[in-house]
Formats: sequence, structure tokens, C-alpha cells
Amino acid sequence: MGKVAIESLGYRPKPIDPDFLTKYPETGTHHNHKVYAEGVQRYDEDGKPYPTKLGIHGTMVAVDFEACIADGACMDACPVQVFEWLLNPGKMGTGQDLDLSDKPELKAKYACDKSDPIRESDCIFCLACEIS
Ligand code: SF4
Repeated sequence: MGKVAIESLGYRPKPIDPDFLTKYPETGTHHNHKVYAEGVQRYDEDGKPYPTKLGIHGTMVAVDFEACIADGACMDACPVQVFEWLLNPGKMGTGQDLDLSDKPELKAKYACDKSDPIRESDCIFCLACEIS
């Protein structure tokens, strides 16, 4: 899909809450990583409710699915391919996310594709994804 226009998403993402592990419940597992706060209403940078309640995926490589805007920068930066697109399995990187513009049911549920840390245990803690 390529470059993401934040205005088109209807929410303004904010950085992941550094206290998420103590603030929110563990609500499940997905691709061998833990999920926190799924189903919990959280709020964007403007204090407005995020349109999704997908939760935070991963513990060490934590991706806030509410704040993810599908720009693919973390995937492009990662040297060990930790991430894959949630809705486009097997694909990673900028422009490889699933375009939801003609998929209203998926758009209502996910807002946009999400960067899923499917190989969290491969992380070498280089922090390239954080600064991307
Ligand atoms: S810290 Fe480095 S290795 Fe780990 S997910 Fe981020 S970019 Fe990949």
C-alpha cells in the first residue's frame, strides 16, 4: 500500500506505554508471543478512543496494534526479520501490507494492517525498529 496518510486513519498514534506490562492484563498468545490488553479501550495522542481494541503484541518486541499505522518502517529496519504483516502472511516491509480500502469489514476491525512480531525470540535487541 505504501506511504500512509495518518489523517486517513482517523486516529493519531502515540508511543507505546512503557508500563504496559503492569498496567494491562495478559489476554492471550499469538504466533508464540504474548498479547496484552486485547479488548481494552485505550486512547490515542489526542485523548480520543482508538478505533480498535486489538492489544499489544509481544513482550520484548512489543507492537501496539492500536498505534501501528502500517508504514512498514520497523520491518524494513529489522536485520533478522522478526515482523510479518498480520493480514498478509508471508509478506513484510513497506508497501507489502494488505490494502483495506475496499475491504470495509477488515477496515472496521483492524483500521489498517499490523506489524506482527511473529519471530519475537529472534530479536537481537539492536533497537533499529524503535528508531525507524
Ligand atoms: S530490536 Fe532489532 S532485532 Fe529486535 S525487532 Fe527491533 S529491529 Fe528487529
